[in-house]
Amino acid sequence: MSLLQERDQKYVAHTYGRFPLDLVRAEGSLVYDADGKRYIDMGSGIGVTAFGNGDPVWVAAVSAQLGKLQHMSNLYYTEPCVRLAELLCEKTGMKRVFFGNSGAEANECAIKVARKYAAEKKGPEHFTIVTLENSFHGRTLSTLAATGQEVFHKLFQPLTPGFVSVPADDLETLKRTALEQKAAGVLVECVQGEGGIHVLSKEFVQGLEAFCREEDIVLMVDEVQTGNGRTGKLYSYMHYGISPDVVSTAKGLGGGLPIGACLMNEKTMDVLVPGDHGSTYGGNPVCCAGAVSVLERLDDAFLAEVEAKGAFLRKAFADAPGIEGVDGLGLMLGLRCAKPAGELVKKLNERGVLCLTAKTKIRLLPALNIPMELLEEAAETIKSVCAEA
Ligand SMILES: *Cc1c(COP(=O)(O)O)cnc(C)c1O
Repeated sequence: MSLLQERDQKYVAHTYGRFPLDLVRAEGSLVYDADGKRYIDMGSGIGVTAFGNGDPVWVAAVSAQLGKLQHMSNLYYTEPCVRLAELLCEKTGMKRVFFGNSGAEANECAIKVARKYAAEKKGPEHFTIVTLENSFHGRTLSTLAATGQEVFHKLFQPLTPGFVSVPADDLETLKRTALEQKAAGVLVECVQGEGGIHVLSKEFVQGLEAFCREEDIVLMVDEVQTGNGRTGKLYSYMHYGISPDVVSTAKGLGGGLPIGACLMNEKTMDVLVPGDHGSTYGGNPVCCAGAVSVLERLDDAFLAEVEAKGAFLRKAFADAPGIEGVDGLGLMLGLRCAKPAGELVKKLNERGVLCLTAKTKIRLLPALNIPMELLEEAAETIKSVCAEA
């Protein structure tokens, strides 16, 4: 164990299973450890560094803002926060945005919006939020309750009441449960991330939208991992042709600084009023300046490249020995491997490629602008490691 790892063990809370790598610097999609060893980053800090590390455009945007105004709180108006909200609304057709600092906080806001909307419109007994099994919505007590995975729940009872999860892609069970429970809202990831890179079916998502509209239930899409170009569209719900009432996002939005956003449409835009919700750091000018620079670059031509890179990886892994299939959309991919994903990822670290896992799969979330040469090199290494006996 390195000295850094010993100090980490001693002083940092033991909440993470870390890989034994001491990382000191990075350039784009290349990362270097304390011995100067080079790694290709196929995880981008769990889908956060949308343009890699040290991207010059992003660094310039953040640095310029840092030199001007770093933080003033939400008691005053600041340009980057307004500009980011404006951009998010222009690009999605949503109408209003609340800013927090993380994915969990974005989802907390979404849940509050759904509950208040339903309580005012239908009555206080309409508070339940329906989510999907194998979902992941965050680590706060309410977003844990929303997360449909028992493993995360058991040590933290009682969680926030009023959440129920149903199997993904089973519209009839969802409808029946939502009606029985007098649901306020439904919260889904169109591509489940932590739950194992599961792409929801078109029939399910479109049927869900029709049902929510008919019953006036708030449809919330969690785009924390899938958002901001990750799947080859700006937001993953756009693959389905639906219009959610609330969209939460974070991770890639800030490009490496903490930010979360909760977007509301015509139906939900006026639910929150002064005093209902807040966040001291929310809309911080430096984080927003970084996010503006990320969003401004996610145009159609760039998103087409993300799709093309995703297609390249799928093709590279098709029929590769030891890889049984590839799931996902764009640059959010899950490899079904013959061997346990955890072991493969350890071997890949040794061979200079940083990958993630999601349940039983190897999960790939490279920077959206990863150069083709690095993508090719990483794909070759992954194929050879997966093929080894
Ligand atoms: C990561 C993630 C979250 C939680 O985000 P934090 O920033 O860690 O709070 C919520 N939902 C999804 C889909 C995620 O992938």
